[in-house]
Amino acid sequence: MKWRAVVLTTGLVLGLAAAPAQAGQPDEGEAVIVDSTRHGGRTLALTFDDGPNPVDTPRLLDVLRKHHVKAVFCLWGDFVDEHPKLVRAIVAGGHKLCNHTMHHDNMGTWTPEQIKADLEETNAAIHRAVPGVPIKYFRAPYGSWGQTPQVAAELGMTSIGWRLVISDWEPPGTDELVRRVMEGVTEGAVVLMHDGPNDRGQTVDAVDQVIPRLRADGWRFDLPARR
Ligand SMILES: [Zn+2]
Repeated sequence: MKWRAVVLTTGLVLGLAAAPAQAGQPDEGEAVIVDSTRHGGRTLALTFDDGPNPVDTPRLLDVLRKHHVKAVFCLWGDFVDEHPKLVRAIVAGGHKLCNHTMHHDNMGTWTPEQIKADLEETNAAIHRAVPGVPIKYFRAPYGSWGQTPQVAAELGMTSIGWRLVISDWEPPGTDELVRRVMEGVTEGAVVLMHDGPNDRGQTVDAVDQVIPRLRADGWRFDLPARR
């Protein structure tokens, strides 16, 4: 128990969390960054950041529904406030929610108090859109984790990283995105893609193509593990 207070101030939390063998059993406040699926093996988890976006999120939801895939949406609080209906559509589609902070700030140097205030504000925005919906995951903008995993854990959220990123924020063409997924996927990978904040049409098209191809290769779609 005591070391947790220490790691809060030293920022060594990730180093400690990387040695789960020492932990023995899961600890309530343990700040792990998960980058693997619940079931492992030939599975992957699709995660979409920086939405909701009024153009691409509805299209993406249609694609995921068509293929019967559930994903995780890491929501940007400002856009949650702008598009609460889209948050309701995401939840109605059976997908899981992830807190991606209120304004997409780099929190690498923020104090736990500052982080907590932002994450709670973001969860409140999501709950204004969908009262009571579970928010099980957190992802730090820019992968700049700082002390966020510890705070997220205290708020009951698992921090999710990724094992595959396809750099779709600089759209290289749908075919190239498809190639990056098919060649980059590894067993149990959490995959990072984007449905916002601006045009992500290529990502949606790529998702539509890779799902049946991955399934044909024996892959199954899973969710990220929870610590
Ligand atoms: Zn982001």
